[in-house]
Amino acid sequence: PPLHVKEEMKNFELTFLNLRNSYRLIDKIGEGTFSSVYKAEDLRYREYRNEWDMSQDSSLTSSSPPLSKKRKLMRRMNRPRFVAIKKIYVTSSPQRILNELEILHELGGCDSVVPLITAFRHEDQVAAVLPYCKHVDFRDYFQTLTLHDIRLYFKSLFSGLEYVHERDIMHRDIKPSNFLYDVQKMKGVLVDFGLAEYTREREGFLEEDPLCVCSTYEHEEAPNSIAPIAGEPLHGYRKHDQRPSKRANRAGTRGFRAPEVLFKCNYQGTAIDIWSSGVILLSFLTKRFPFFNSTDDVEALLELCSIWGKQLMKETAALHGCSFESNIPTLHDRRITFKKLIPWATSRENNVPFTEEEELAMDFLEGCLDLNCKTRFTATQALQHAFLADVSI
Ligand code: ADP
Ligand code: MG
Repeated sequence: PPLHVKEEMKNFELTFLNLRNSYRLIDKIGEGTFSSVYKAEDLRYREYRNEWDMSQDSSLTSSSPPLSKKRKLMRRMNRPRFVAIKKIYVTSSPQRILNELEILHELGGCDSVVPLITAFRHEDQVAAVLPYCKHVDFRDYFQTLTLHDIRLYFKSLFSGLEYVHERDIMHRDIKPSNFLYDVQKMKGVLVDFGLAEYTREREGFLEEDPLCVCSTYEHEEAPNSIAPIAGEPLHGYRKHDQRPSKRANRAGTRGFRAPEVLFKCNYQGTAIDIWSSGVILLSFLTKRFPFFNSTDDVEALLELCSIWGKQLMKETAALHGCSFESNIPTLHDRRITFKKLIPWATSRENNVPFTEEEELAMDFLEGCLDLNCKTRFTATQALQHAFLADVSI
């Protein structure tokens, strides 16, 4: 690693002295807004490996070690040699750090979600230790993967999402860099539960609870009950709501936010992850990444409008008690279908017919990128669709 990274790793080891006894930092592998991620080697791995080898050898001789010891060693051998250590910045709130660790802990046990090995704390800093997951950068393969391999990618992604959603957890930041995909093994793992949350169902709210309380307020200060932007009547929202306010605008990464997030609907469910996954598929099929690129939510709505058209955007806004108006002349009333969009984006000749598999992909995309979160695919429905159900390695 370059000198400044070496320096940084040394500082990290000096703050977390006990970490140094167990792990050797190798390199920095990621840097986000709220964390730095390092690759490291588990020092005890070699120790165990030696012990294991010795026990194997001795089993050939007369003095074979007791079975219980062998089992114990075997269990220890499940330890991965390489780990990813995620150092969560102090700028991240303690609540947020706890939330991430808690959710990771709860989700451990599914092979599509990165399991939490352990965590260290030093004063207000926290480092989470995860198995190192081999993966390649999305940009290196999204234009070259065959449609068959794309199906396997999504089968893996949606299996992970099904597991997470079954536990009433939404990831809220689905995007390629949070799904580490091993192209050779054709398996991926979900990482980065820093924005994940329990759904309202899990928190004990009933389905009949107000669907939406839309706000014109930005970010964290959103009060519990405020009037919708425009005249669409809401189905009885609470006037003096005692519930903790939801931070309606916090979720995700630009370009991957679902319409209900952009309309600041306070009722957000697992469907937002399906939308973001649909955006990934859109990148694969159009060979453009990132597909959407706007910096703010209003612009993002206009980007959606340039595809779905004003009519559908108005209908979607109404679902969330909002109104959608625009006088931008280039925006049309009607939608551009994926059948038009994809050949245009990939400069494909107009008269080349779609293969059956391509038709299937576009039909699947339709289910993921449904503007209406109520009718959008669930992870389970997605897995039952022929695009995923009828594909195997
Ligand atoms: P952030 O909240 O900063 O986005 P992430 O958990 O998404 O943190 O990690 C950032 C990057 O670090 C990932 O995109 C990935 O490249 C790398 N990374 C994270 N966890 C692992 C892991 N378990 N194995 C390998 N690389 C990882
Ligand atoms: Mg991330």
